[in-house]
Amino acid sequence: MTFYLPTKIIIGRNCIRENASLFSALGTRALVVTGKRSAKSNGAERDVRRALEERSIPAVIFDRVESNPSITVARAAADLAREVGVDLVIGIGGGSPLDAAKVAAVLATNGIDDDTLFSNAFAQKPLPVVAVPTTAGTGSEVTQYAMMTNDRIRSKSFVISDDIMPRVAFLDAAYTENLPLPVTRNTALDALSHAMEGYLSKRATAMSSFIALESIGCLGRHLPLLRQGAGIDLNVREQLLYASLLAGVVIAQTGTTVLHAMGYSLTYFKKIEHGRANGILMGDYLQYLLPEHREKVMTVLKTLGFSGIADFKALLNDLAGEKETLTEEEIRSFSTIAMTARNIPFTLKSPSRTDIEDMLRSSFRP
Ligand code: NAP
Ligand code: ZN
Repeated sequence: MTFYLPTKIIIGRNCIRENASLFSALGTRALVVTGKRSAKSNGAERDVRRALEERSIPAVIFDRVESNPSITVARAAADLAREVGVDLVIGIGGGSPLDAAKVAAVLATNGIDDDTLFSNAFAQKPLPVVAVPTTAGTGSEVTQYAMMTNDRIRSKSFVISDDIMPRVAFLDAAYTENLPLPVTRNTALDALSHAMEGYLSKRATAMSSFIALESIGCLGRHLPLLRQGAGIDLNVREQLLYASLLAGVVIAQTGTTVLHAMGYSLTYFKKIEHGRANGILMGDYLQYLLPEHREKVMTVLKTLGFSGIADFKALLNDLAGEKETLTEEEIRSFSTIAMTARNIPFTLKSPSRTDIEDMLRSSFRP
């Protein structure tokens, strides 16, 4: 069994301010990578700036990362990093800015084309990365993955390297306090899919499964509030951020499976948010595994607080809202793309193209 987690995880209110000295240990000039708005409005960028100022570390801000970032935006951030001569990259935001920060850290020290990047064949060590998550979903603050929209293959491509695992992750749930309800729901569904897929992965270990169930239980206790859209206070936000972190620790060990593989096309072609795509597919994914892996699937459901798939699907329908429609042609083409994803082999039961078509078809049935 292998378990690798090189990230120092610091959780708590004002944790950036109280641990500013950690930045000095990592670099002398920083690039701060964010999305367009939220890092400013939720206070995270201000707290990072102040901590850097206190330690006399000059910083330049790159605030142009869009959701599901393209490689072009990560290259622009890397160009800025080189121009200014930074030796530290700090990502603030949801998974999109965190992943763009990781890729910028690679490209700042490696002048390589996209194919070399996605084959993870970079010769120089990336710059060190610090992560400040402001959504509770991706767990990117503790993973070796960075997911980029890749127009050439019309899907997501991953950079995977232990060297892009953040050195430090600062988790202050106050930054997530004003997350809009749809983003809160979608990102919680992403965290749940990570914990669930990690538990139901061929690569699961005793340690990863233990953590996965802790995450699933924590999410299960709070999903009813997300369904109602009420009572999501700071305490709940802390729990969601914690569950998302644990789920990130899980996929850092196990990777994801066919559920994520199916979701990529829904995001690329139908513009369905990453977590919501997984949420729409989750019930039928469990149904697919149930006959051969009843005990494990039932453990997931019971840990979530459900006695069967039907009740869980009703919750997912409420969280995911009205579904888009998929044509038969889309179902066929999305299945073909999903079959090429590198996380497919980790699925407990190897799916055929027909299995994937069936899951997509039944998930989008009104
Ligand atoms: P996101 O794309 O990072 O952000 C979604 C939206 O939420 C943006 O409009 C963002 O606004 C806003 N937002 C973020 N934090 C906020 C806050 N505290 N308050 C208010 N609004 C806020 O969404 P995400 O679901 O977190 O990340 C999705 C990406 O992560 C996808 O590309 C996915 O493939 C990737 N992912 C990566 C991993 C990994 O291990 N690396 C795992 C799973 C998913 P701004 O743009 O203004 O910031
Ligand atoms: Zn995900």
